[in-house]
Amino acid sequence: MSDAKIRLYLEHPLGPGQSVPLTADQAHYLFGVMRLAVGAGVLVFNGRDGEWLASVTAASKRGGALTCERQTRPLRMPPDLWLMFAPIKKARTDFIVEKAAELGAARILPVQTAFTNSERIRQDRLQAHAVEAAEQCGGTYVPEVADLQSLDGLLAHWPEGRCLLWADESRVGAAQALAGLPGGPWAILIGPEGGFSEAERTRLAALPFVTPVSLGPRILRADTAAVAALTLWQAALGDWQGD
Ligand code: SAH
Repeated sequence: MSDAKIRLYLEHPLGPGQSVPLTADQAHYLFGVMRLAVGAGVLVFNGRDGEWLASVTAASKRGGALTCERQTRPLRMPPDLWLMFAPIKKARTDFIVEKAAELGAARILPVQTAFTNSERIRQDRLQAHAVEAAEQCGGTYVPEVADLQSLDGLLAHWPEGRCLLWADESRVGAAQALAGLPGGPWAILIGPEGGFSEAERTRLAALPFVTPVSLGPRILRADTAAVAALTLWQAALGDWQGD
């Protein structure tokens, strides 16, 4: 059973000997798609209790149960980093959410800016992408995807003590090192395809918690910019520096 490969996110509490009922969707995936039978091992996590090796103790088409055997990884929280981005086309927005979960963002916040192309998002779909990314990358934590909110509103109620790294396309040029920046809670802000409006720029530039940065000498698409900014931040201030 130690060769269990499937990783499944579920909501139920996990602990020694804990029995976990399966939903119809989970049963369909494990028994219909992956063809597991009673006795098979599965790795499960719920974002709170770490990762557990569990064995299938009941299996049917519409349900089933797992029993937790032992913890295989403790809960590992990502650094307190938010990714704020203006939603773009569907596939690229999905990509941003998936990469943010893989790269270790703690929260993902779609924001409506002056030039945001999309008025609505499917929060449940985006959340499901974050879950899938955590399942495949070995994460024990799933970042929350927030509902779409306005950048103005978010800035007006900005949490005390959180710094904001603003990917500012007008600074296109040599990327500056982030190494000197303070630790603690941060957020990254990536604009839409149309960039930021003059009013947004003026506002962001005047806010004391904002640090504008360049992401190098080329203008990146928003999805690339999100990956680049998360990478720079993680390497300089995040959990890529070892425990
Ligand atoms: N249409 C804009 C570019 C928008 S790119 C223009 O031509 O100026 C989308 C977002 O990615 C930007 O709002 C910014 O947040 C980020 N971005 C892209 N390239 C960047 C760079 N070289 N430096 C900093 N931010 C960048």
